Amino acid sequence: MATATTWTVLSILNWSTNYLTQKDIEDPKTVVEWLLCETLSCSRIDLYLQFDHVMSEKELGKFKPMLQQCAAKQPVQQVVGSCEFYGIKLAVNDKVLIPRPETERLVEEGIRLAKIITESKRPRNASATDSREEKHTEETQENLEISEFVPAPQIRILDIGSGSGCIAIALALHIPQAHITALEKSADAIEVLKRNINFHNLDKRIQVVHQDIKDYQPKFEFDMIVSNPPYIADDEIASLDKTVSYYEPRMALSDKQDGLAFYRFFRKQFPVWLKDEGVALLEYGGNDQTAELKSIFSDFSQTIIKDYQQDDRVILLRKKLSADGGK
Ligand code: GLN
Repeated sequence: MATATTWTVLSILNWSTNYLTQKDIEDPKTVVEWLLCETLSCSRIDLYLQFDHVMSEKELGKFKPMLQQCAAKQPVQQVVGSCEFYGIKLAVNDKVLIPRPETERLVEEGIRLAKIITESKRPRNASATDSREEKHTEETQENLEISEFVPAPQIRILDIGSGSGCIAIALALHIPQAHITALEKSADAIEVLKRNINFHNLDKRIQVVHQDIKDYQPKFEFDMIVSNPPYIADDEIASLDKTVSYYEPRMALSDKQDGLAFYRFFRKQFPVWLKDEGVALLEYGGNDQTAELKSIFSDFSQTIIKDYQQDDRVILLRKKLSADGGK
């Protein structure tokens, strides 16, 4: 990039998109737009409104090193230090897995299930309301207003391997009665996790536990367990794009085995950690792992949930209870 040239937002966008295309960077225009927004501290729409803006030396000085980092395949989220997940802004760095859109599917399902759990827990104490409900199949506006005054029962959620906290924070923001235990083994990841929890003012509802899952002994049973564990097999890491394999934390990607070690461990713990009516939502590596996942969790009722690409992505588990209510 010649320094004597006058660079407008539009000319630098075009030049840099071309440059990143040559460097084989995925979605180059989006990456450049992201870097320009960061440089000019503006939103994407604002960027489009100032295409003729002439970049100052200071702005170019900020932009160029970031472009070089992206050209070297560092993920843009790490370069700018943040990302958006489920519409929520989160800090990220090279110590945490960058939240993926697939994981939003798990969150979406968690929010849906939390509503069902809440309804099943809600005490049906107002007898007048009950008798009215018998006459009406649909809940009337009046009933809805009454139920607003009954505090929703607490929902206890365990998030295993929280990383940036993307799942825990998105669930906490959408399920006001959720109390979440965020379990994380990496001290470096915990720094990011705590920063994100504080940023979203959730320190009263998300408790961080710095511990290896193998040593964790919960003090209570959970209504819901969620996790996006490291599920990439050790021998597959080398075949991943450098953006992932070189820049993202190995601990968050692979179990150093066949990618299924965490699920095998979960199978043993979940019968104890989950309430009888509780649910577990686990992300996994897609269609190729489905058969093995189903077999690992054969003692549970299971539903496979597809991601937005129509690939198998999340397994929903419930305990199988015998007809007499025993386990
Ligand atoms: N989804 C991530 C990837 O494809 C992997 C995340 C994980 O192992 N849990 O790179």
